[in-house]
Amino acid sequence: MQGLNPKRMEKMTMAGEQLIPTGAALAGHPTLGRNTSSANEDSTMSTTTSAAPVSLEQETNPWLAQAARFDEAARRLNLDAGLWKVLRYPAREIIVHIPVAMDDGSMEIFTGYRVQHSFSRGPCKGGIRYGLDVSLDEVRALASWMTWKCAVVNIPFGGAKGGVICDPKKMSTGELERMTRRYTASLIEFIGPEKDVPAPDMNTNEQTMAWIMDTYSMHMGQTMTSVVTGKPISLGGSRGRREATGRGISVCVDQALKHLNMYPVETSVIIQGFGNVGSHTARFLWDKGYRVIGIGEFDGALYNPSGIDISELLEHTARTGAIHGFSGAQPFDKDAILTQPCDVLIPAATENVITSRNAADLKCRILCEGANGPTTPVADGILAEKGVFIIPDILANAGGVTTSYFEWVQDRMGYFWTEDEVNQRLDRIMIDSFNDVLQYSIAHNVNNRIAAYMLAIDRVAHTTQQRGIYA
Ligand code: NAD
Repeated sequence: MQGLNPKRMEKMTMAGEQLIPTGAALAGHPTLGRNTSSANEDSTMSTTTSAAPVSLEQETNPWLAQAARFDEAARRLNLDAGLWKVLRYPAREIIVHIPVAMDDGSMEIFTGYRVQHSFSRGPCKGGIRYGLDVSLDEVRALASWMTWKCAVVNIPFGGAKGGVICDPKKMSTGELERMTRRYTASLIEFIGPEKDVPAPDMNTNEQTMAWIMDTYSMHMGQTMTSVVTGKPISLGGSRGRREATGRGISVCVDQALKHLNMYPVETSVIIQGFGNVGSHTARFLWDKGYRVIGIGEFDGALYNPSGIDISELLEHTARTGAIHGFSGAQPFDKDAILTQPCDVLIPAATENVITSRNAADLKCRILCEGANGPTTPVADGILAEKGVFIIPDILANAGGVTTSYFEWVQDRMGYFWTEDEVNQRLDRIMIDSFNDVLQYSIAHNVNNRIAAYMLAIDRVAHTTQQRGIYA
């Protein structure tokens, strides 16, 4: 623990973890991802189900889940103890309390976070989410996942994430705009095209990014489009960005099918979440001939074993605002849809939907993680025993940040690419990255998730070492 100040130590142990990055650190959360069974190593996960049980609260803490996978990968890389400490924790954590004048004349204070995990490979990059369940541990985990994700697809960014605790569904557009602008102003010295570049995430969108870009530009005295990505195309956004995460997921599923000798037309798919990621994933897979048999949402699901017409469902949701009442499928239970038999299951909604409680009941051959952190480490162990092929989140959903990188490049050049150019470059990176992870998993005899972490940690550790530690 030498060299870390007491306040930092207090923060680091908030989630109840140990701080010493040695074998002893793994003992801090032995049941959150430590593999003690070599039998698991050639399949899909490194965790074990034979470890002592943990509470659901511990199991679903995203920071502990991230740290467990990090420790496992770092141990297998035989990572230097000093680098282990540097890479395991965020570089900076910012907490802001944002006063907002509400429409009824009252004043509300919202708590916001921005966590910058690593600047080692370039400016930090990561989304901003709004929600009542936003927490510092969640934002920390998401920030470090961004570091690993950018390194997996080999783009020159570090990782960051932001969030504001609020109920966006109960706020007016004016209230959301004022909150977004004040949050941006509070972070003004910490974000910027060469410092930290936010993007949309859950409950934020192109409009949110336009407000951030405008607020930042007002402070700088000039229009600076490259401070955020995921903007409207008319304000420096990239063609193809809106669909990019779903497109990248569909490319990963194609590659997994190739590897497993499966064929799209014979492949059934269930997707949880029909927001940005889920709906575009559904559309791409449906266009390629996959049979999408189930769609889950937070308040219900749809099921049709013959296949759902995704084009019609998109029209229905655009018209009604929800998946419910769609005549091309039967209503289904929102939890039971995850455990229906299918070839490919794609959680594309939120964290911790596959846990020790339901992992044993999953009946898919491939689990492709569209959402960040949908599977707990304990569930990983159960899925490994079942032989499920996992395409981990830091690979599967990296199409979004890859096209955000293209957007940042285009903004700084002031020259914009055609949609075909964007898509071709994205497909190339996703195919190469999928194969990099697969080759790494074969070469090191580990599952895909640990392979992706090892590849990423290796790359970030290399640049950290090359740069050296200042002072
Ligand atoms: P979104 O808000 O557009 O969509 C999320 C959808 O999931 C909504 O339709 C919501 O109703 C549904 N949902 C929420 N909780 C649910 C639950 N418990 N069960 C079932 N459905 C639920 O968000 P998004 O941008 O599509 O992001 C989804 C996930 O993908 C998040 O984990 C996000 O961090 C991750 N992600 C997004 C992008 C991107 O480009 N948008 C990129 C990488 C990763």
